[in-house]
Amino acid sequence: MSTPPMSTPPAPIAASPALAGAMGRCPRCGSASLFRRGLVLRDRCPTCALDYTFIDTGDGPAVFAILILGFLVLGMALIAEFKFGASVWFHVVAWGLLTPLLALLLLRGLKGLLIGLQYRNKAEQGQLAKK
Ligand SMILES: [Zn+2]
Repeated sequence: MSTPPMSTPPAPIAASPALAGAMGRCPRCGSASLFRRGLVLRDRCPTCALDYTFIDTGDGPAVFAILILGFLVLGMALIAEFKFGASVWFHVVAWGLLTPLLALLLLRGLKGLLIGLQYRNKAEQGQLAKK
């Protein structure tokens, strides 16, 4: 009895889907990037062929990013204003540049994290009956 030939080697399993997702990697194999560019997802993993159509993070990453960024940026702005007496132009330039950059970085990590958690927990829309 011989073993059947394998067309592709099995993809390695990510140790932690949530950690792999937070790092922007595929939640199943942990090796390929989830994102095509920016916050745009690929259609499937080029390494393990995991179909990414199951992904539905909704507004989750944006809500967490707004709460975290609001706390950080407002705290830094208050410290700059009351401890250092920063000028209005400093506030406009510093927070106007820093906030979008931090938002992009934070959104990418949070979106990947929620995708990894969705994959690990097999989360999906609620249904009354299976199709
Ligand atoms: Zn993969």
